Amino acid sequence: MFNNRFQALQAVSNREIPEIKLPSSKISDYFGVNVFDKLKMKEFLSQDAYAVIVNSIDNGVPIPRDMAEQVASSMKTWAMAKGATHYTHWFQPLTGSTAEKHDAFFEPTADGGAIERFSGDALSQQEPDASSFPNGGIRNTFEARGYTAWDPSSPAFIIGRTLCIPTVFVSYTGEALDYKVPLLKALNALDKAAVDVCHYFDKSIEKVNASLGIEQEYFLVDTALFNARPDLALTGRALFGHMSAKNQQLEDHYFGAIPSRVYAFMQDMETEALKLGIPLKTRHNEVAPSQFECAPIYEEINLAIDHNQLLMDIMDRVAQRHHFKVLLHEKPYAGINGSGKHNNWSLITNTGKNLLSPGKTPKNNLMFLTFFVNTIKAVHDHADLLRASIASVNNDHRLGANEAPPAIISIFLGSQLTEVLDEIDTSRLSKKIKEENSLWQGIPKIPQILKDNTDRNRTSPFAFTGNKFELRAVGSSANSASPMTVLNLIMADQLKKFKYDVDKLIKKGEKKDVALMTIIKRCIKESRAIRFEGNGYSEEWEREAEERGLANVKTTPKALDALITDKAEVLFEETGVFTKREAHARHEILLDNFYKKLQIEARVIGELAINILIPAALTYQSKLVENVKGLKDLGLDRTAYEAQLDIINKIAEHVNGLKKNVDEMINERKTANKVEDLRQRAIDYDEKVKTYFAPIRYHADKLETLVDDSLWPLPKFRELLFIK
Ligand code: ADP
Ligand code: MG
Repeated sequence: MFNNRFQALQAVSNREIPEIKLPSSKISDYFGVNVFDKLKMKEFLSQDAYAVIVNSIDNGVPIPRDMAEQVASSMKTWAMAKGATHYTHWFQPLTGSTAEKHDAFFEPTADGGAIERFSGDALSQQEPDASSFPNGGIRNTFEARGYTAWDPSSPAFIIGRTLCIPTVFVSYTGEALDYKVPLLKALNALDKAAVDVCHYFDKSIEKVNASLGIEQEYFLVDTALFNARPDLALTGRALFGHMSAKNQQLEDHYFGAIPSRVYAFMQDMETEALKLGIPLKTRHNEVAPSQFECAPIYEEINLAIDHNQLLMDIMDRVAQRHHFKVLLHEKPYAGINGSGKHNNWSLITNTGKNLLSPGKTPKNNLMFLTFFVNTIKAVHDHADLLRASIASVNNDHRLGANEAPPAIISIFLGSQLTEVLDEIDTSRLSKKIKEENSLWQGIPKIPQILKDNTDRNRTSPFAFTGNKFELRAVGSSANSASPMTVLNLIMADQLKKFKYDVDKLIKKGEKKDVALMTIIKRCIKESRAIRFEGNGYSEEWEREAEERGLANVKTTPKALDALITDKAEVLFEETGVFTKREAHARHEILLDNFYKKLQIEARVIGELAINILIPAALTYQSKLVENVKGLKDLGLDRTAYEAQLDIINKIAEHVNGLKKNVDEMINERKTANKVEDLRQRAIDYDEKVKTYFAPIRYHADKLETLVDDSLWPLPKFRELLFIK
């Protein structure tokens, strides 16, 4: 039974800020207390074991069995000292959320007693009953087993009384069933390719890590109101609701004072996150009312993604104490800004150098230009894959619908770097370098003030922001591993090709720097089309992008095609990130997820319209009919009930409209369900079923404006959107 709107409103008005225990000490005192990080390993492990595990964390070297035994034993000691009774492998199946299955440390002994045990095997590998996770046809039932295997590069942590061990999730036959495996493979490919290119400039570089800082946007809504909206509760977004008279038009929410209930939630949530080693640094209001953002300091990418996944869980859990629901949906409220997850990405060497940070010397500038231009080229060549990696039914509301950012992948550089690239493009640089016989004369100077000075173009899906690129097209509920796998793998592939081309010139007798500049220049020329500095939301851009030959795929089922092209197959194979079977399995899972979510939305829409909204409208209409009858009985003439008749008629009109559209939608749904081909079924859901959502909503929202407020069953936007 869903809450009644008025009970919910009553509950909201009685809310008090819950008592929460915030640490009185400074953050550095409790940061990471619930993490088995290097500091604790040093304390709990023998010197040998510590050295082995650090080598594994830093260089991916596998951990021998006897060492795993030692690590497990000290992990248990540490965890039990902190009150843990259970452990779980924590992984990221393709459902999009995280998964865990808890086992107790305790084991009975032969003499009727019990001991706590945690073996190296239990740490290293488990076989969750995996047959009900999405697998895209990889696992048929007779080989239904899947393995989770420990990922030592992400430290174990304690939630409640459970020790959580980050793991990968693969099928019995070795195929990836999660987000982490392909990410780790892409990072590995990137590391190799980037180190090779680094060696043109600096032989001492041994490792290149991708780093990631994720800005997380979200909405908060009171639990009571949430529970009074079956659409929010079942689909994460309001499928009905007339726009509130006041929404974001006054632009008074962004960076405004944080409401005290929300502030209490944020502090509580941050404390939990910080204890789990998530370096949350920033919090503020976002543009829309009841929309907020938090961001940690960037970290190595695998860890940053684990932390973001964990953060989403923590937000949800902590919100309960504050009687809030966190809405991570990309577009919970039509007509109001949606939410994204900005992925700030750069490449950092083991020597601490950010490869996307322009240097002071010409030599450093050439190194910067190399990585900068290769990123642009990679995105240019594989924009379709990047688009596919952020595609989801929720994100279609942002990307395909004239909202931040558009479905057209383009790159924003800012005027200064645009000038630099244009200068290289049009000059005869390599010739100049040769003639002057000076290595660095031809390299344009890169302005030093970049970092604080990069133009803020909020409409670009992929923007350079001084010393990093920011992918803004990722959806707020997404697992960033999906786009980050693609970004890092296309970068790996591009760097490999770049090196091949440069080496070829060098073999022909070209000077190294001339060779580098020649290929950089070629990359700039070939990737021109992807660079765009203007307004990404404008219609002119849509037209111009089309002229430039850039893709503008607005919906998920078609965007996903990029995953199974021949071009993608070659790329996946060469970088070793996906086998053909894995790529096809993912394609299938994503299509399946797409149409099922629309199917759920369509069902909820039908049920709400027929069983909740129409009855409310008819109740009011009957009251009006009674009223008109009464006035007539009194002998009054038509002028006395003109307005009532008008409303009665309008209600009839919209009830009819609602019913008719719902019936037609249900028919289309039945037809779509029978379509065998999964891609076609997803497209039909998109183009034949979803198209009814707007007209249905139109009639329902009109009814909302006609019906007596005290009879309207669903909390209204003005009640959902503003938190006191
Ligand atoms: P904005 O101005 O876009 O709101 P900030 O400059 O505060 O953002 O940074 C946003 C995120 O980018 C933070 O998580 C920050 O740690 C991260 N970030 C900063 N430098 C880098 C980098 N070199 N690589 C990856 N992420 C970075
Ligand atoms: Mg940002």
